[in-house]
Amino acid sequence: MKANPSRINKLNHLRDHTFDLVVIGGGITGAGVALDAASRGLDVVLIERNDFASGTSSKSTKLIHGGLRYLKNLEIGLVREVGQERAVVHEIAPHLVRPEKMLLPLVEGGSLGKLSTSMALWVYDFLADVEGDDKRVMLTKDETIAYEPLVRTDILKGGGFYAEYRTDDARLTIENIKTAEKHGATALNYCEATDFEYDEDGIITAVICHDRFTDEHVTVKTKHVISSTGPWVDELREVDKSMTERHVFLSKGVHIVVARERLPLQHAVYFDVEDGRMLFAIPRLRCTYIGTTDTPYKGDPNAIPTYKEDVAYLLKGTNAIFPDVNLTIADVESSWAGVRPLIFEEGKDASEMSRKDEIFESKSGLLSIAGGKLTGYRKMAERVVDRVGDQMKERDGGKLKKTNTKNIDLTGGPFEDFAAVLVYEKEIARQLEEASLAPDRAAYLVSNYGLQSPTIIEAATQRTESTDVARLACAEAAWCIDNELTLYPIDWVERRSGRLYFDMPSIMPVLEEVLAVFAEAYRYSEADLNAERERVLAAIRWVSEFEEAPEEVATA
Ligand SMILES: Cc1cc2nc3c(=O)[nH]c(=O)nc-3n(C[C@H](O)[C@H](O)[C@H](O)COP(=O)(O)OP(=O)(O)OC[C@H]3O[C@@H](n4cnc5c(N)ncnc54)[C@H](O)[C@@H]3O)c2cc1C
Repeated sequence: MKANPSRINKLNHLRDHTFDLVVIGGGITGAGVALDAASRGLDVVLIERNDFASGTSSKSTKLIHGGLRYLKNLEIGLVREVGQERAVVHEIAPHLVRPEKMLLPLVEGGSLGKLSTSMALWVYDFLADVEGDDKRVMLTKDETIAYEPLVRTDILKGGGFYAEYRTDDARLTIENIKTAEKHGATALNYCEATDFEYDEDGIITAVICHDRFTDEHVTVKTKHVISSTGPWVDELREVDKSMTERHVFLSKGVHIVVARERLPLQHAVYFDVEDGRMLFAIPRLRCTYIGTTDTPYKGDPNAIPTYKEDVAYLLKGTNAIFPDVNLTIADVESSWAGVRPLIFEEGKDASEMSRKDEIFESKSGLLSIAGGKLTGYRKMAERVVDRVGDQMKERDGGKLKKTNTKNIDLTGGPFEDFAAVLVYEKEIARQLEEASLAPDRAAYLVSNYGLQSPTIIEAATQRTESTDVARLACAEAAWCIDNELTLYPIDWVERRSGRLYFDMPSIMPVLEEVLAVFAEAYRYSEADLNAERERVLAAIRWVSEFEEAPEEVATA
């Protein structure tokens, strides 16, 4: 397998250069940090040991939300910050962070009463400065049924209807990384930080990396280091010998995916289940996904299994509120399981622990950031890069510019607003039709690639694969190889295109031709090709076939 020239240049750049900042970890936090720091004038490199967003940042509920649930724990500051962030993240990428109205059915015996819900939603809107049509509306029983005819009626008392946003976490991560690169950052996936070098005062001067693509070791010289390694943050604190009592606690969350026609919701629904928890059911193009569980996790965060019991729990809760759909495990096309990197709090269970982020600074200067939410990534990035500014000031009186990421449109944009996105989707459907390609892929293309879509369509018209669907998929994969640091077919199937989760049936009809695109780009041997095919097939089995949980494992 051969690396492409731009990756070889990047590795050489890592070797020859002293950076202002090495960011370790390419999930949403690291991506946001790289953009924040690069746009404030720092010379930044981001390294990620697997693919970008391969950790928690492709396994979330994919909501850009204020966390209504956290009001219950009186986390007012958190709800205010992430609530206000929703609109900002929507504005910098409206094609990717889309408005999603949420229906909250109120049922007899449920955790929410009419008055308390009305007040909670009012506070929620107030804290986040929600205005106009987005303000919450309280619904009667009949109105709730009209909004969502599938909802169980015999115990229904009414509903709340309020504004949130939905995204694709992996794509939000990659667009932040590409935008950081536009501001001068360097980003490399499959490059792992394994150790640090220190000066005589014990301050980190370099990060030792193992490039897993070329199997080379590279020492990257740097003035500052941020570890945004989420669930793995304590691993690097151990390497740095700077662990403290405060540590990360992993809580597992599972989502399952069914075809939209099996759960044809009109709106996203946030509903009670019998154990007092709440679940989301969220429609998304051709599928509906349901989640999530919240249980302590002690296994390997690189391979988090979805057990039959997790699936059964989610199906039971869903069938209880939508009694006519009768979902079974056979309906589950795909799934994902992730771990929340929470900051451990003695005496609290997983769902009670705060979702607030925390920064640990060691004597060596290593800044580690963990906890937090996808939604709050921009503010988390600002806070930890401010700490780099403090280090600069302390060490040599250096000064860092203020953050301005609020005004930086992500790649794939800019769009004036969401109305402009919808107009643009029509234009893309027209272009697809004119090119004799599937016009029903317009919404998929625009939500994934925004203004980058026409280049993919144009390239598809020049291709010679067997079907129009394959021509478009191969053009998309080739474009991701050239523009999105996509090294392996599984990176495209899972995180660039999102097909592994949201559009499982679309994979097999194009797989061999997509593999051929990668084979050509990276000059695969026969053995490479077979290995990459097997990795995709293994991933399909991993997300769609479920084993029983071992006895000692908690599920819910
Ligand atoms: C089930 C679930 C549902 C959620 N739903 C939501 C939601 O709807 N909305 C919301 O706002 N938030 C949600 N969250 C929270 C959100 O997903 C996380 O807060 C966020 O994704 C964490 O991102 P991160 O970048 O900190 O960590 P990660 O995405 O895990 O990134 C850390 C990265 O560091 C890399 N890494 C580790 N060690 C090294 C090393 N030595 N060298 C190089 N790289 C390394 C890893 O490979 C990984 O890619 C949810 C979380 C879960 C688990």
